[in-house]
Amino acid sequence: MGVDGVRFDFLGPDSAPSIWALGQAGFLARVPVDEATPTWSGPCWATIATGTGVAGHGITGNDLTGHRLAEHPDFVTRATRAGLPTLLAVSGWPPLALAEDGGPLFAEASTREFTAVPQAGLAWNDAGAGGEAGLAAWDAADEATTARAAAILAGQAPRVSFVYLGAVDFAGHATGSGTAYRAALLAADQRVGRLVAAVRSQPSGPEEDWTIVVVTDHGHRDEGGHGGREPEVTTAWAAAAGPGIRPGAPPLVARQEEVAPLVLAAAGCPGG
Ligand SMILES: [Zn+2]
Repeated sequence: MGVDGVRFDFLGPDSAPSIWALGQAGFLARVPVDEATPTWSGPCWATIATGTGVAGHGITGNDLTGHRLAEHPDFVTRATRAGLPTLLAVSGWPPLALAEDGGPLFAEASTREFTAVPQAGLAWNDAGAGGEAGLAAWDAADEATTARAAAILAGQAPRVSFVYLGAVDFAGHATGSGTAYRAALLAADQRVGRLVAAVRSQPSGPEEDWTIVVVTDHGHRDEGGHGGREPEVTTAWAAAAGPGIRPGAPPLVARQEEVAPLVLAAAGCPGG
């Protein structure tokens, strides 16, 4: 699962109980956005998805045009090509899933779901314009994506899935890291909890060894926005629990490049 734009220092047992619980069962680790990587969603998600950095995938902004994803495919594509059933479910931000702005970042999946956010909610500025309508639109898109993904995960569970939620990042842009941002974080955390519960509701659930990974791409400034090198922006994080992940052991993810190998190894895929 990917939750866009969540500050590491805002995570706690009350502010994000589902993510926190994964950390207790496995790890919750700060993951710095390295010096070569602009703190935008495009490059950060590309690194997370492909396991290679900017020098490999070639993405430095939110327009992915000119990327080298064919040489460095994302983990969902790699699992799909290895013959596993896969799910890609994306809320709101087109280039992750669609051929817009140089996308899609995630090229192939057995099942693809994209929930669009109406134009009013896509005012990507730091001035709060369209804030209220945008918050509602993004919340609705995240909710629809979660409901759809949870139904798929509880049914014919794909072996490798990526579900993306974007409302927290929008709240940061529209209102700063304040009340609305914290409310969006709690809503996203509850959706993470529902997705985890859906996976574990499988009829054979207790016998299956699911690895759950939740990550963000970058943080936010107090006043909202990112792209620079402030600590609250460059401190991303990863939480994971599953077989072979021992609580208290050193986290298996210390760099954004280490997320995709963890996912692929858990699924028994080549390259993991
Ligand atoms: Zn953002």
